[in-house]
Amino acid sequence: MSSDYKIILLNGAAEELFGIEEKNAIDKHFLLSVKDEKLFEQINAIVDSKFNINKVEQVKYGDKYYDVTITPIKNYKSEISDILLVFHNITEFKELDQAKDDFISIISHEFKTPLTSIMMGTSMILEEKIGAINDKQRSTLVAIEEESEKLTELVNELIELTKIESGKEMYNFKCCSIFGIAQNTVKPLYNIANEKGVNLTNTIDEDMPGVYADPEKITWVLNNLITNALKYTDAGDDITISASVDGDFMQISVKDTGAGIPKEYKDKIFDKFFHVQNDDEFEIKGTGLGLAVVKEIVEAHGGKVWCESDIDIGSNFMFTLPICDERG
Ligand code: ADP
Repeated sequence: MSSDYKIILLNGAAEELFGIEEKNAIDKHFLLSVKDEKLFEQINAIVDSKFNINKVEQVKYGDKYYDVTITPIKNYKSEISDILLVFHNITEFKELDQAKDDFISIISHEFKTPLTSIMMGTSMILEEKIGAINDKQRSTLVAIEEESEKLTELVNELIELTKIESGKEMYNFKCCSIFGIAQNTVKPLYNIANEKGVNLTNTIDEDMPGVYADPEKITWVLNNLITNALKYTDAGDDITISASVDGDFMQISVKDTGAGIPKEYKDKIFDKFFHVQNDDEFEIKGTGLGLAVVKEIVEAHGGKVWCESDIDIGSNFMFTLPICDERG
């Protein structure tokens, strides 16, 4: 396609995909043949940005999914002269991915009921409601209880993630106070911080503008970030929650002075099931799903989430949410 979006070449597969013949499409505007305004906007944005980027977008035509690679081609004056679009049919991968998600979702739900029975049974025996137990039995039962709690956390996070990824999760967006959300989230965590000797501080001001968000989901996000910070800090460390206005967005930060994350893992930690490998630490402290869910939720709000971190200095997890005028 030329820089004024006229088609120059269309191969056989593209003719079939768009149901047009090359001879009828040549020299005509992209939108006359490929009637996809959303994709056209993406192409336009790349051309306007003047950057030499090679961008991949995902589109769905009928029941087929395609990865579209958009590559601007520059002439000797570094001006964009042509634009190359490559459509890669990924329907098979998508279907496999869907089958995997369905499987995880079914398995997670099937795990829930027996897990609840295990936990209830264990706690009844521990409370000696069925009879007296000796110390050895008690310590074994405590271990069973702890492992069941970890499994329950994994199952709950898996259910949450599959719900969100499948688009079945409903969001209840409204204009709400980030001060209120932060206060409610932090309150039950002060005790845990105190027990650990960690100083947990919420500096978010009551006068901050409102955010357009689902308060329940953002409570989940904040809770997850603070719980993580609590996992990777020790006595004497600080965890500070703050918020600042950045243009049309509110930037919320959960900063800790804990273990930190190696630079090479800074982005990877948002992937599913990712744990930072630690030589002197064999115990895995969580499921590796929390930050993947955090990312999904924040992005569903039109915000972004990222992390700055230095080993042994600490981590700062930040995310943005759109600001709204009135407050709920
Ligand atoms: P997990 O359930 O393992 O905590 P997450 O997705 O929440 O899973 O986090 C992924 C990984 O990111 C963690 O295993 C840990 O290695 C790292 N991480 C997350 N938060 C922090 C933090 N505040 N300080 C240090 N490492 C962190």
